[in-house]
Amino acid sequence: MLRPMPPQPVDELPIYDAHGPREECGVIGIHAPRTDVARLTYFGLHALQHRGQESAGIAVSDGRRLKLHKRLGLVSQVFDVEALGRLADGDEGRIAIGHTRYSTTGSNSLPNVQPVYAGSELGELMLGHNGNLVNATWLRDELGEQGVEFVSASDTEVLAKLIAHAPGRGWAQRVEYAFHRASGAFTFTMLTVNALVAARDPIGFRPLCLGRLPGGGWAVASESTALDAMGARFVRDIDAGEIVVIDDEGVHSHRPRLGDDRERLCIFEYVYLARPDSVIGGRLLYEARLRMGQRLALEHPAEADVVIPVPDSAIPAAIGFAEACGLPYREGLIKSRYVGRTFIQPGQTGRDEAVRMKFNPLPEVLTGKRVVVVDDSIVRGTTTAPIVAMLRRAGAREVHVRIHSPQMKFPCYMGVDTGRRAELIAATHGLEQIRQAIGADSLGYLSQEGLEAAIGRGEGRHCTACFDGRYPTDVPLDVDKFALERG
Ligand code: SF4
Repeated sequence: MLRPMPPQPVDELPIYDAHGPREECGVIGIHAPRTDVARLTYFGLHALQHRGQESAGIAVSDGRRLKLHKRLGLVSQVFDVEALGRLADGDEGRIAIGHTRYSTTGSNSLPNVQPVYAGSELGELMLGHNGNLVNATWLRDELGEQGVEFVSASDTEVLAKLIAHAPGRGWAQRVEYAFHRASGAFTFTMLTVNALVAARDPIGFRPLCLGRLPGGGWAVASESTALDAMGARFVRDIDAGEIVVIDDEGVHSHRPRLGDDRERLCIFEYVYLARPDSVIGGRLLYEARLRMGQRLALEHPAEADVVIPVPDSAIPAAIGFAEACGLPYREGLIKSRYVGRTFIQPGQTGRDEAVRMKFNPLPEVLTGKRVVVVDDSIVRGTTTAPIVAMLRRAGAREVHVRIHSPQMKFPCYMGVDTGRRAELIAATHGLEQIRQAIGADSLGYLSQEGLEAAIGRGEGRHCTACFDGRYPTDVPLDVDKFALERG
């Protein structure tokens, strides 16, 4: 009998001065004999760069041994022709996995970069993970008592070693064991000498899809846009709780019985995290975001002259809002494409500087106008206020803020960096207080019903915990001990 997992404390999540909730990670997997799989994986990782900009890695199997290259930095900084050539090493390889990382457990340091390695009596494995294990501390202690050693502070190494040391004669059985022991979000790709394993946790917080390569190989990726970049044709989403093993015999799908767990895909994938050109759950995100803007206009119309987005993620919703209101859509803020992670001074002065580095207003669009500015979310409110002030300085007569998601009142423990509850402005302020804090003339959020209707997959299929506190899994109570009561 497997022992139930108690909720476990995790370290406080790192806090960054981010415009919105921070991305998590992106994963790739390829099984394609007689193909330069490292190069294909590199193309796929480029398409997932938005999911993590701190580090990247690729691991390759040539059928005899595993090879790995990983570093801190963007995909284009981590890999060059020589690095990709060493992964191929005269032999084109057969199987590869890739990873882009944004750290939510463990710091941004080389030992925590993925893929991570684990040895077992079934053979060696490498694993890249998207999500966050909420009981990683507990599992790590338990494995440590069995003599398993760890070289990093990441929950991904815990997951890899949990699978490596699990009972079971095959990889699918070992992953199923991990499904019962691990708690939280863990979509992953795993490389062994002769197989690619891909899986989504039983709740399916993070997406994963399967594609077919032109030469007959297979590819899996966090988002379909990465399949496009690798020249693969989208076949289907991998289901919550599904384990896919791809070897020379083909694709083997395992759907273990896991009780009454049902998919709760993170709704923020639709709002913000995934690229607009990705298809998740049969929905093109660009169109879903257009509909979010249309619904937002119905719920919170504004007397205004022009609609602008906070680029880039709010562009489709702003277009939808403008269409629904019969107002002109314009670009009133131009975003610098080259501002990545910056050193930001604490305090409001630093945040103002960060906003100025990222956005430049167009007075020609704004002067004398009543402006609706559409954004995807307000987390702390500390970047929305400088944006509103910037629009006013550029000549806007009125600024009406519209948000195409509900108020974010609860933190995420499943791999998205939202900050702690006390820092979420909607957790401690009413709507009018938030309006005053950001300096807007009016403020409106899309309702949860409106958001789910805009996505169009039906109610109850998504994790909406950061809006309503209803976490689909145990969460660490010590960070916010009232979170579950409020749900
Ligand atoms: S808590 Fe929010 S960000 Fe985290 S998985 Fe749920 S919906 Fe997504």
